[in-house]
Amino acid sequence: MSEFEFDLFVIGAGSGGVRAARMAAAAGMRVAVAEDRYMGGTCVNVGCVPKKLFVYASSYSESFEDSAAYGWRGKTADFDWPILRDNNAAEITRLNGIYRNLLANAGVQVVDGRARVEGRHQVAVDDRVYTAERILVATGSWPYVPEFPGREYAITSNEIFSLETFPRRILVVGGGYIAVEFAGIFAGLGAETHLSYRRDLFLRGFDRDIRKFVRDEIGKKGVQLHFNHRIEAIDKQDDGSLLVRADGGGALAVDTVLYATGRVANTRGLGLEALGVVLHRDGTISVDDNFRTSVPSIYALGDVTGEPQLTPVALAEAMALVKHFQTGKPTEIDYNNIPTAVFCQPNIGTVGLSEEEARDSGISVVVYKSDFKPMRHTVSGRDERTLMKLVVDADTDRVVGVHMVGPDAGEIIQGMAVALKAGATKAVFDQTIGIHPTAAEEFVTMR
Ligand code: FAD
Ligand code: NDP
Repeated sequence: MSEFEFDLFVIGAGSGGVRAARMAAAAGMRVAVAEDRYMGGTCVNVGCVPKKLFVYASSYSESFEDSAAYGWRGKTADFDWPILRDNNAAEITRLNGIYRNLLANAGVQVVDGRARVEGRHQVAVDDRVYTAERILVATGSWPYVPEFPGREYAITSNEIFSLETFPRRILVVGGGYIAVEFAGIFAGLGAETHLSYRRDLFLRGFDRDIRKFVRDEIGKKGVQLHFNHRIEAIDKQDDGSLLVRADGGGALAVDTVLYATGRVANTRGLGLEALGVVLHRDGTISVDDNFRTSVPSIYALGDVTGEPQLTPVALAEAMALVKHFQTGKPTEIDYNNIPTAVFCQPNIGTVGLSEEEARDSGISVVVYKSDFKPMRHTVSGRDERTLMKLVVDADTDRVVGVHMVGPDAGEIIQGMAVALKAGATKAVFDQTIGIHPTAAEEFVTMR
């Protein structure tokens, strides 16, 4: 008989925590998971899922407009925010129930409440202390908003999906995933949309051609881009609107200011430091290759351990950890060539090295690019273009980077990621027969 109530106590029922709990229970471990906010975590409640639904919602305005050239008449686009907001909330509630059932059916004990690590094998939730051989911290991340006068008037992605009223004018601050995605969403829904970024070109870290292309495409869709723009203060006006002052004297009047300036590890109040769990300077938890912290019985994975903050990464880590528990063998996760999509409009899909990264790592680079009007818009007349780019190592002929801006780029790049994992060369791309007529076929016809 074990001296502990559980073999594994998971803190956080998000992407990583739920997957780890279910897999561990399926492997015969006695598992509990504590969750204090929402089943399914960030991705399900205030992340990937609602974001994608809002992206779909925002795409209809263009579809209504474009349909005229295809013979559709009499379509009016009259957007009703409460319908979208409430339908989204209902879908999230449905998913919360599914997650709870998945855990229950797997035999995982769900503990509702905020957990705190009390000892190397003890977790407290409210007044009850649970004991476990291993503790897994999968508490995710939380929006970061810098300090400035009027910070209290800014909201984050946590609040944006449930706003009482639709913001007619919105300023999105930041230049990463969330900023460009929400600028696209609100422009599509019909808001006057501004994006403020502190440097000269957003999406730092992505291929430079992709960044410039997205700048141009987003601009065409009516998002007003303010680069080299630093917010100094936000004041609330008598009419309830927000006056945003930036350095250099400029000011913008808007209804909502959405800060999308990164996310920090969610370790507040967990009691980790007191136990000697080592954190990095940025607050993320330091773990070894097997997700073990500096305290041997305590593990951590997902956003709380740092980048890349992506759901499939948290899922992969959870599965690798449980396999490690089962076999005792080192975990096998390859963090190279992680594909990713940014659901701005049009989407970005990318895997592998940017042209700049390839050059910086000493690769002799050959680049293939295709920039064209998507077939749909030859008839609709919309001024939207697609960019596709291959980065190839001239010495080995290996394709080391695949990048795209265009409709469904995320869907297309998933397959390209398999090709990169398999070590495909440009010759293999060239030997592959295309699917016609698609945009994706360009990846195998570029010469
Ligand atoms: P989370 O999913 O955040 O789960 C952590 C859970 O722990 C939460 O439910 C939290 O309430 C709980 N918790 C925290 N502290 C405690 C405590 N003390 N006691 C009990 N419970 C606690 N990724 C993608 O791959 N694709 C996307 O399209 C995408 N879109 C996103 C859009 C937005 C707006 C945001 C914010 C994120 C997006 N992400 C996306 C990122 C993705 O959501 C995260 O990488 C993922 O959710 C991380 O999973 P996790 O398990 O580490 O943490
Ligand atoms: P990101 O890290 O992607 O971007 C943060 C942005 O905020 C950067 O442009 C950064 O600028 C800027 N910034 C940081 N600090 C400040 C500051 N003090 N003042 C002004 N600007 C600042 O974070 P996000 O919040 O956009 O998203 C968090 C993470 O969530 C993403 O990195 C991603 O991993 C995940 N996510 C994934 C999605 C997907 O897969 N489609 C969608 C949404 C989120 P600079 O470039 O100068 O550093």
